[in-house]
Amino acid sequence: MFKLFKSSPAPEAAKPEPTSAPCDTGCGDGSAASSASDDAPFTGCLVCGEDLVYLPASTEMACVLCGAAKVGSARCKSGHFACDACHAAPAMDVIEKVCASTDERDPMALALRMLRNPAVKLHGPEHHFLVPAVLLAAYSNVKREPQKRAERVAEARRRVEPIQGGSCGLLGTCGAAIGTGAFVSIVTEATPLKGKERGLANRMTARALTVIGATDAARCCKRDSMLSILAAVKFAREHLRVDLSARGPECEWRSVNKQCGGTACPFHR
Ligand SMILES: [Zn+2]
Ligand SMILES: [Zn+2]
Repeated sequence: MFKLFKSSPAPEAAKPEPTSAPCDTGCGDGSAASSASDDAPFTGCLVCGEDLVYLPASTEMACVLCGAAKVGSARCKSGHFACDACHAAPAMDVIEKVCASTDERDPMALALRMLRNPAVKLHGPEHHFLVPAVLLAAYSNVKREPQKRAERVAEARRRVEPIQGGSCGLLGTCGAAIGTGAFVSIVTEATPLKGKERGLANRMTARALTVIGATDAARCCKRDSMLSILAAVKFAREHLRVDLSARGPECEWRSVNKQCGGTACPFHR
């Protein structure tokens, strides 16, 4: 199942980038991440860091950050509920800014820069956007189409933003995997009426979901994002004739992830 991953030679262990700089993503602008995000816990509840508790049924709750009444599926043990928009917006801004302007051709290298950014939490719906954003940026650069890069990334954000946090477990469809389908859809200009392109996009998502589902482990947005990127790189080579050449790194987050799948994770070495 993980042939695509295991066939990649192991890279040297990557060192986390510093987190104290105004912006450690290379975007050169500290305004991309809000101060609320910088101060928020990296994992668990955005307010207090407590573990999240998933509710038996979705329910309307007041977001502790923006005050809006939103339907959600989880809150922390102390009762704090942060809506998906408040959770992900600062990270989405960083991801869009970096991917719109980068000349990076390796989607995994680009992903790792942002996965280490403090605005991108350990888990969260921002990963639904991170996956297509790095793939579209790398694809545009490898194809020598830099003029299309920013619009492709912006289009991916518009499409994936409605994907609910926790969709992997609540809907049986991981948002990071959907991101790979959005990547293929955007570069092939698929629509619901274009048979070949629509077929490719759906087969891409299915490929990523198959690899993610095979872990049989609790969600890890870092693992599932990296699995999705590797699945997309292989798919792009086979079906889009584009070599994005990315390698699977060793996990940097297992010590902070209370639900780490351990040896079930192919990035656990
Ligand atoms: Zn809390
Ligand atoms: Zn909110």
